[in-house]
Amino acid sequence: MLEQGHQYVDGGFRRGSHDGTHDVVNPATGEVLTRADLATPDDVDAAVAAATRAQAEWGRATPGERAAALTSLAAVMSERAEEYAQAETAQAGKPIKLAREFDVPGSIDNVSFYAGAARNLEGRASAEYDGAHTSVIRREPVGVVASIAPWNYPLQMAVWKVMPAIAAGNTIVLKPAEITPITSLMLAEDCTRAGLPNGVVNVLNGPGRVVGEAMVAHPGVRMTSFTGSTPVGQRIMELASGTVKRVHLELGGKAPFVVFDDADLDAAVQGAVAGALINTGQDCTAATRAYVQRPLYDAFVQGVADVMRTVRLGDPTDPSTDQGPLVSVKQRDSVAGYVERARGYGAKVVVGGRAPDGELAKGAYYEPTLVIDVAQDSEIVQQELFGPVLVVLPFDTDDEGIALANDTPFGLAASAWSRDTFRTLRASREIQAGCVWINDHIPIISEMPHGGYKASGFGKDMSQYSFDEYTQVKHVSFDITGEPRKDWHRTIFGDR
Ligand code: NAD
Repeated sequence: MLEQGHQYVDGGFRRGSHDGTHDVVNPATGEVLTRADLATPDDVDAAVAAATRAQAEWGRATPGERAAALTSLAAVMSERAEEYAQAETAQAGKPIKLAREFDVPGSIDNVSFYAGAARNLEGRASAEYDGAHTSVIRREPVGVVASIAPWNYPLQMAVWKVMPAIAAGNTIVLKPAEITPITSLMLAEDCTRAGLPNGVVNVLNGPGRVVGEAMVAHPGVRMTSFTGSTPVGQRIMELASGTVKRVHLELGGKAPFVVFDDADLDAAVQGAVAGALINTGQDCTAATRAYVQRPLYDAFVQGVADVMRTVRLGDPTDPSTDQGPLVSVKQRDSVAGYVERARGYGAKVVVGGRAPDGELAKGAYYEPTLVIDVAQDSEIVQQELFGPVLVVLPFDTDDEGIALANDTPFGLAASAWSRDTFRTLRASREIQAGCVWINDHIPIISEMPHGGYKASGFGKDMSQYSFDEYTQVKHVSFDITGEPRKDWHRTIFGDR
């Protein structure tokens, strides 16, 4: 399929009109998987035109018809689940067991969820709120949506963007990250195979600064939904203001992991390693800062170090590999830079802190890393580094633990660990984040919203709440008096 081009517009593959190409590289080996053609603003015009043509009809399809198309899409994707998993592992370097057990089934579940959700739009009851009119709420599609996705979970992020948009009757132009376009293109192809009309789902592959910006600024696009870093999100908001577009931003994270002194230490240790290293730490909700109440601090650091040392780094296609490479050498070097600088300001690296030698040196590998003895205001605690690195800091009082958890610009996700209901309830109320897990860290489900507080953005992916982003609410008011002269007219002319 990729021989026909790396753009998917109006129900078919085509080549981008850019002169250059971009190599999609397997980060485990450095091998070029495909030399991808790139889109330009001309392709953006063509994709928006296709999406606009398709929207008129798709917006009028019944919820049942849209649900049937998504049910069929879930079935088509299930038939090639293994192909999706292999492609995701090849382009992003993620361990095949994660792709098989998390990325792909999670994505298909999300498609199925939206097949059901499409038939359950919610609003206030129709009624005669003022006695003289019947008020009715309509929930309507916004129109053409332009969505931009990151590289860390390419298929899941594409699904999270596309499904709520089209379930609600919008059409979409999606731009995956140019380093991981393959599974988004497969998804677009499967939409056509599942019977979705041409132009409902379009995918453009190209550089963010050119294609992404042209999509966000396009006057034919009514909404933009972005998942990626906070600085790019700020730029998107700025650009969207030119055409007063609706904006939905899912941005960076720096999730705290707060362990109170009555926590189950073994559970917290295992949860911290899993929460920090999932997807090689390239997860916006990954546990990145563990705050541990002083009585448990030493044992926690020791326990995490012991478990981290058991993590098997290796070929991501091997089912026994726990951790593959990072997504690129550039990303690996960026992570290594954070750890090097931390060493420079006095941090102690308890485990890892280096790229492995030998066979793995040809890939973008970095060892699972545990860092302690850093100050709360240091870069490694404050900034999102997006790699397999956990920092641990001690705290004394409950108030201090919660204050430290809230002390970064981000607010995407957090967890609190304790056996005491009052402590966990208090933490869930006071930690400023879009999701707080209690005695676990990471699990997500299609039925529940995902989205940030503070610099982590606004708006929700997944769940019925996503329809608040992808629909607009219209109030329709019917006069029921039938009187030519309404009572309220006296305030404008004449008397009662
Ligand atoms: P990024 O911001 O560099 O890129 C994201 C996407 O934006 C890519 O498709 C890129 O091509 C595009 N882009 C870049 N510059 C652009 C511009 N000027 N205009 C329009 N588009 C532009 O992020 P990334 O490095 O691909 O992904 C990692 C980031 O994504 C992390 O910050 C992570 O926390 C975040 N993320 C957030 C969530 C969430 O749900 N909050 C989920 C996954 C990833």
